[in-house]
Amino acid sequence: MKLLVSACLLGENCKYNGGNNYSKAVADFVKGHEVIAVCPEVLGGLSVPRTSAELVSGTVMTAEHVSVDAEFRKGAALALKQALDEQIDLAVLQSRSPSCGVNQIYDGSFTKTLIDGQGVFAKLLKDAGIKVIDAEEIINGTVKEVM
Ligand code: SF4
Repeated sequence: MKLLVSACLLGENCKYNGGNNYSKAVADFVKGHEVIAVCPEVLGGLSVPRTSAELVSGTVMTAEHVSVDAEFRKGAALALKQALDEQIDLAVLQSRSPSCGVNQIYDGSFTKTLIDGQGVFAKLLKDAGIKVIDAEEIINGTVKEVM
């Protein structure tokens, strides 16, 4: 199968703070499959490191109240195009991110408060009919193998 994976989960230092979210569970999960690593925020032209951002009433904003919505949406659109061009079977995305979050995201208050919702890239993938898994489901064992 062909899988698209949030690049930070595979150890790429593309997180806002210059780090990554490497997960051995995710690396094991994708082993043996064709893997395409993507970071929509970097694709959108944002730097590493960069100021953290959250979805605030539908617009992606930094904690300093600067809109980075255009960059986030441009990157999500480019990453979606890659997913469609590559005809991926499944996407595995990092939890809680304003781009990649699948089930929950931060609420826009920058207080680490979670709400049900999706990041802008995860939503584009789902709207395009692509199956998406939250990395947390792999890490906590809810999903054990590629379907
Ligand atoms: S945009 Fe996605 S891939 Fe990039 S650092 Fe954030 S969670 Fe990871």
